[in-house]
Amino acid sequence: MKTILPVNRNQVQKQDSTKSETLDLLNSTKLIIKEAVQKLGYNEDMYELLKEPVRILTVRIPVRMDDGSIKVFTGYRSQHNDAVGPTKGGVRFHPEVNEEEVKALSIWMSLKCGIADLPYGGGKGGIICDPRNMSFRELERLSRGYVRAISQIVGPTKDIPAPDVYTNSQIMAWMMDEYSRIREFDSPGFITGKPIVLGGSQGRETATARGVTICIEEAVKKRGINLQDARIVIQGFGNAGSFLAKFMHDAGAKVIGISDVHGGIYNPEGLDIDYLLDRRDSFGSVSQLFNNTISNEELLELDCDILVPAAISNQITAQNAHRIKASIVVEAANGPTTLEATKILDERGVLLVPDILASSGGVTVSYFEWVQNNQGYYWSEEEVAEKLGKVMVDSFKNIYQTSQAHQVDMRLAAYMVGIRKTAEASRFRGWV
Ligand code: GLU
Repeated sequence: MKTILPVNRNQVQKQDSTKSETLDLLNSTKLIIKEAVQKLGYNEDMYELLKEPVRILTVRIPVRMDDGSIKVFTGYRSQHNDAVGPTKGGVRFHPEVNEEEVKALSIWMSLKCGIADLPYGGGKGGIICDPRNMSFRELERLSRGYVRAISQIVGPTKDIPAPDVYTNSQIMAWMMDEYSRIREFDSPGFITGKPIVLGGSQGRETATARGVTICIEEAVKKRGINLQDARIVIQGFGNAGSFLAKFMHDAGAKVIGISDVHGGIYNPEGLDIDYLLDRRDSFGSVSQLFNNTISNEELLELDCDILVPAAISNQITAQNAHRIKASIVVEAANGPTTLEATKILDERGVLLVPDILASSGGVTVSYFEWVQNNQGYYWSEEEVAEKLGKVMVDSFKNIYQTSQAHQVDMRLAAYMVGIRKTAEASRFRGWV
């Protein structure tokens, strides 16, 4: 049996302009997996199995554009590990999608499913495109073309897609329809995040924000902060950020700053969240309605109690981690804090609730949706909320206790909890 090599977190390369940041995402993920596998007492073979996805498919999708021309898009589907069960995870439509990022995101889905104790491994997909500059019909043709291209490796008992950055229930509906046509039977369990009338679940649209809310409620208890007195800053006003702003506002907390891709707005007395929700477009943009905006960098450094990065990756880095004023950071986006920044925040005593815990509410309710599709019997919104609440509170407590017991930061604790099920299932199957 080979012994596992010690991990040196200083191995993490400083971000340099010649290297893509997302390569660091995958490399950082590998480093923490190595550390978690080692802490759990597994050998090097386990790390070799878990450090990369078992399968990644690259596809080229020709799409007839509205002006009659053909544009060929590149897409990916990555499956990290299917020892526990079918793989599961969203599909993002974004100009910066790339293979390394999709790989890292699929690993994180395995971890999220492990944390929430779902019978899935992790998967993820993405298409390099800018949906903000595409028409409704072009998006439909692209969504259907993607499903045709990946249909051999996906399915209700193989790999189940879902929404992610810039994809929504309409896109899920087109994908489900295309898959059902290919298979020649109705297949609601092929994809989650569908409209309710097509077998979507009550509470799925708000699930990620509900999960983040529960993490915030648990985190403030640990820091002795009263949620009603808390000042909150949210970066990103998409699915997670916008519903979270609403839930925080309804809970009596003061949301003092929000931002979108163009910039942020700030009011120390609290923002009018209902107005912002009313005026946001389908990509979560709202800041352009205002004259007095701040940059996304400034937003992160505002004086507040709770900071929620709910946009994209690599936002809190070694450059700005020292200037973050919040005492609690809850990651609603995937990968918003670099490994170096995690270390800095931990040393400064900031309680960081990591992405794979904080954003696991989405996939948890996706699982509930899939279960309902399989049994053909649908639950009430209250039932979904109650089941989600239990999973989130248990997950938070489990990870917090692991972090205390092993004297490790919350991210490493979350990796330890998240990787265990995949590792054990792989071992029982005789893969390692
Ligand atoms: N895209 C979401 C995530 O990153 C949800 C995935 C799912 O529901 O399968 O967690």
